[in-house]
Amino acid sequence: MEKTPEASVPIRGDATRSTGHPAKRRATTELRDRSAKQRATESVGRRTRQTVTHPVDCSANQRAAPPLQAPTPAAKIRSSSAKPPKALASVASHPHPAAANLVKWVRDKRCIAQFQELVSIRRKPDNEFRFDPDRDTTSQLFQIGKDKTVFGRFLTRLCQYRLAQEVNQAKDGALRDMGGQVRMRYNTMSDSTYHHHSREGQKWVRLCGKFDGLLSFFFVYRTTCISDVEYRGFMNLLSEVGNGQDASEAFHKLLDSDYTRQLCQAGKEFQQSLEGQDVEFGWESGGESLTEQPEKKMLSSLRACQPLTENTYNPTAHPAWPRPEGWPDDWSWPANPTLERATGCDDCRGADCDCISKLPPFGPRIKNYGEKGLGLQAVASAHGKMAYRKRTTIGYLFGEIVPANTYKDERALDLVRTDMGEEVDVCQLDFRHEGSIFRLLNHGCNPSAEFKCKKVSGKWVVAVEAITDILDGAEITVRYWNSRQNKAGCLCNSCRKD
Ligand SMILES: [Zn+2]
Ligand SMILES: [Zn+2]
Repeated sequence: MEKTPEASVPIRGDATRSTGHPAKRRATTELRDRSAKQRATESVGRRTRQTVTHPVDCSANQRAAPPLQAPTPAAKIRSSSAKPPKALASVASHPHPAAANLVKWVRDKRCIAQFQELVSIRRKPDNEFRFDPDRDTTSQLFQIGKDKTVFGRFLTRLCQYRLAQEVNQAKDGALRDMGGQVRMRYNTMSDSTYHHHSREGQKWVRLCGKFDGLLSFFFVYRTTCISDVEYRGFMNLLSEVGNGQDASEAFHKLLDSDYTRQLCQAGKEFQQSLEGQDVEFGWESGGESLTEQPEKKMLSSLRACQPLTENTYNPTAHPAWPRPEGWPDDWSWPANPTLERATGCDDCRGADCDCISKLPPFGPRIKNYGEKGLGLQAVASAHGKMAYRKRTTIGYLFGEIVPANTYKDERALDLVRTDMGEEVDVCQLDFRHEGSIFRLLNHGCNPSAEFKCKKVSGKWVVAVEAITDILDGAEITVRYWNSRQNKAGCLCNSCRKD
């Protein structure tokens, strides 16, 4: 959603009444103050502009490592103030000092700062990286290999990790991979390259163990979070622990804590979002620096917001929910206002269909559009292709079902039912706390999509429909208010061109 200077002026979507669309007509829109959110993204953004020109990780192993010290605070990011776990009280006396030392590094808050950096690079509108599940990892490795940024290097590790997992699965399978099926899939790669990636991958597999998602919290060379000297020491620890069975077991034993599990959950959500549905992380809508928050709050903000896959209805939260105006006398009340007597589907003639789950194969990605904040970008199978044809349903705006007229801002949308004879505002969908990613759609005076109240698979929902063909990489926008009223402060692409 956009920020405009007139943030306190409530503007009803009614202004667009003449365009004749129920959802658009009733959309209540008040402009939200995004400054807190922007501060958050800016503070992360500042840490991300460093260019990386260093060779791949493996070369660092071969250099002489300085004696490793405990992490020292970086200039910009405060090091972890958390006390080391009890088991680490004496690293030197631990049977696996490298494992004990590595645990300290993983618990260093700079890992979290780096994680935020990875996410913020991913949020840049020109970051087009896509994991294509239909393409083998080979070509993706090569594509990524050219990207020398922190993000590119992280992806190389992720591809190596996957390659090793693939090899291990083939080995463990009932039919042993005698014919080298996995190797065959990588036949465009030379033996030495293949073995290098495979070996590195096995190291990541051993290091992560059951901690799926931990990969996102290992330092990547030359981020602003860690100095060269520290990084070389860190990489040596990774090799030592990652190449030894006993050391990696000791590492995992020391690592096992609620803290690590929460870290890994966030890492896993990020890694999954690279190849599937994008997710928004808790800290992205907050204003404070994540690493300066108390640990409990930091860990909860680190996690991805769970996107709703349907509207939620909790009647006990609104005990005095008034019967909606126009609600038929013979319909029971209280009831879920999006369901009562709602049968059939506007998208098909069927009575019992699955239209609600039929969406384009590539959902939109979350991007950071600077002043406008987060928004959604169209995604196709490849660069420059058609993402969503005109009149395609891109997705649904889900939120919490609350009584009509509860909110007057743009983080709630009125849901209109046309099946009651007249158009009736039966409820609002409130998406300030939770919702689907479509709650991030920005306003555009020349929008490419619109909100549409309709009945899909027996439920009244707000669909996001393309009103024009939308190409890969374009921002998806909807009209939230009357452009004549707000042109002065509007940040949308068409107004900024004027
Ligand atoms: Zn249907
Ligand atoms: Zn505009």
